[in-house]
This record gives sequence, C-alpha cells and structure tokens, in this order.
Amino acid sequence: MIYTLAIIKPDAMKKGYKEDIRSEILDNGFKIAEEKTIHLSKEQAERFYAVHKDKPFFIELVEFMTSFESHIMKLEKENAVIEWRNLMGATDPSKADQGTIRSKFGTDISMNATHGSDSNENATIEINHFF
Ligand code: GDP
Repeated sequence: MIYTLAIIKPDAMKKGYKEDIRSEILDNGFKIAEEKTIHLSKEQAERFYAVHKDKPFFIELVEFMTSFESHIMKLEKENAVIEWRNLMGATDPSKADQGTIRSKFGTDISMNATHGSDSNENATIEINHFF
C-alpha cells in the first residue's frame, strides 16, 4: 500500500505550522497526492473517530477536532502507513522521539499536531472519507 491519510490538526493549523509540516513531509520523500483544508463538522469528527466513541476522551477529541480548520492530505510513499507514523512519532508528544513531527509541533496527548492512519485497511477507509 503506497497511500495513507494524514491530517494537520487544529492545534498545529492555529499555530501556523501547516507549511513547516508540509515541508517535513515532502523532505522525507512523500508525495502529496491530494490535499484540502476543511473545518470538520461535529458529524464528520464523530464519524472519523467512531472507533474511540466509548473512550473517556471522545467528547474532548471531537471538540478539539472541530475547534478550527484541519489540513487533510493523501500521502504517497512506499509503505506509507508505517513511514508516516514513524515520521509523526508517538501519540504523546512528550514521549515522541526527538526530531519527529509530534515532538516538534505537538503540545500534549490530545493536541498532538497530526493524525496518521494506523493500518492499510483504515488508510483506505479514511482516504475514502475525505477524497
Ligand atoms: P494515534 O493513532 O497516535 O493518533 O492515537 P489514538 O488512535 O490512540 O488516538 C486518537 C487521537 O485521540 C490521538 O491522536 C489524540 O488526539 C487523542 N487522544 C488519544 N489518547 C488521548 C487521551 O488520553 N486524552 C485525550 N484528551 N486525547 C487523546
């Protein structure tokens, strides 16, 4: 699978990191096959994160994802899902390796700058969700 879905989340967009993160992506050998900036609706955010609907942080997650614009990208590279998750780093920016995007641009476990699909199967579902 050569595609994955990436999102520059509202925290990073609000702080003006969109171009910095896009540059990191391109510098690391990804192509951006499709992209668009949108402000997620509550329905879109709830559907996108439906797998987390029973988690204690679900309401907070939906509020965060609908708080500002997001930049949605279909990324292309060999082994795209794993490569993009490696470049993002761990979910919690304080635990993410030095040099990763979440380490550089994330704030905390909720506002962690970017999203990446976690499997080829979910990448296909998530790409179809937005493109
Ligand atoms: P990811 O695949 O690395 O994004 O991590 P998950 O699928 O586990 O979580 C999805 C998203 O929910 C994360 O990227 C965070 O934005 C948010 N999240 C995960 N865990 C927590 C948590 O414990 N508290 C809060 N507030 N948000 C969380």
